[in-house]
Amino acid sequence: MNAHDSERIKGMLEELGLGEAAVIEDADVLVFNTCTIREKAESRLSAHLGWAKALKEQDSERVIAVGGCVAEVQRRQLFEHYPFVDVAFGPGSIAHLGKWLGAGGHGVESGAFGTGMERVFASDLPMRRERPFQAWVQISMGCNSRCSYCIVPTVRGRQVSRGSGDVLDEVRRLAADGVREITLLGQNVNSYGRDLPAAERVDFSDLLRACDAVDGIERIRFTSPHPKDFRPDVIAAMAECTSVCEHAHLPVQSGSTRLLKAMRRSYDRERFLRLVEEMRQAIPDLALTTDLIVGFPGETDADFGQTLSLVEEVAFDGAFTFVYSPRYDTEAVAMADQIPDDLKRERISTLIELVQRIANERNERRIGAIEEVLIEGPSRTDPLLLCGRTRRNTTVNFAGNACPGDLVDVRIKGATSTTLNGEQLTSPVP
Ligand code: SAM
Ligand code: SF4
Repeated sequence: MNAHDSERIKGMLEELGLGEAAVIEDADVLVFNTCTIREKAESRLSAHLGWAKALKEQDSERVIAVGGCVAEVQRRQLFEHYPFVDVAFGPGSIAHLGKWLGAGGHGVESGAFGTGMERVFASDLPMRRERPFQAWVQISMGCNSRCSYCIVPTVRGRQVSRGSGDVLDEVRRLAADGVREITLLGQNVNSYGRDLPAAERVDFSDLLRACDAVDGIERIRFTSPHPKDFRPDVIAAMAECTSVCEHAHLPVQSGSTRLLKAMRRSYDRERFLRLVEEMRQAIPDLALTTDLIVGFPGETDADFGQTLSLVEEVAFDGAFTFVYSPRYDTEAVAMADQIPDDLKRERISTLIELVQRIANERNERRIGAIEEVLIEGPSRTDPLLLCGRTRRNTTVNFAGNACPGDLVDVRIKGATSTTLNGEQLTSPVP
């Protein structure tokens, strides 16, 4: 979501005639788009702002803007901690920054605006896409769950779904503009539509089908879904829509039913395992990735063992692993039995090792297969190779002669825990 918001911020600044500076020291306007999901992201912002302060001292005309969830959560305090910041705006208020800068930075008083839940979809704002053939499409904002560790509902508010007509107009415009792959975005993407008025109500499965019907869109992805909202109609739509990719990110967080309850995830270990089974039956060759948290308050060795055994049992293709980070105003921050840092570190290394071993095994099974790859550009590790993604969302580095945005078939010849490598087989699918 933040990557998408940053594309909107860039697009809007370009529309105002501002280009991207080659080095930070040359920038007249510095915009920080911030995240507050874990403490580490917030501490990184302090380091960046220290640098921004030094730059502002060299040139007092330089504008420093802080957007996103840290601005939302800190509001006025941000200016007390960092008095050199000119403007702060909440995650749903990117458009306000444009108005402020468009008025020469003096149109409205310096200060925070757009915080305090004054939220709008940024769909009308210009967007500077990183790649012309891939686009994010925001379908909802906010979240109605109350996971006990999570700050998102506090900073991004309750769920508001975008009207399906508006979403589809954007998808059609993107297709006409040469986009081949879209990623539907929401904090809880598959609970889309439930807050819409009855007359306009469209479910996530209907939306997937409607996007699938748009000519030119060849790949549809979505993130992040909640396991509790993966209902049979969503699984059926995934199975039946040819553009919907064979990949689901299913954040499980823990393998222990006791902890899942304390986290308020509203499913237990057995329900999650059944869901995996149902999805794998409906969608052959489905890739599954997940989010996992270690060190949640009260996590015993037995709970952690349950997470390890669930990871083994499901055999995820990849996972984002997080050390639990206490966040303001969440239920978990006040829970007894906070886990010491050294134990959290020990557990996360054990978990990462297991996740990597399994991902490596899963990727090795692809050797010899032919995968359809959407080319993203040259490989980062070897510029003589091309790099792209399979429908199952695995990165592939390969020898070939096609262009970014082309779909090609690649024979897989090798694997690591995070990437595949291979050789292009066909000429590009036009
Ligand atoms: N809405 C998605 C869901 O419910 O699964 C996840 C969105 S959240 C922005 C992304 C991930 O950050 C979560 O799945 C969780 O693993 C992690 N996360 C959230 N709060 C955290 C915290 N306080 N400490 C550590 N990880 C956290
Ligand atoms: Fe946070 Fe996701 Fe839970 Fe919402 S569903 S509170 S975004 S972890």
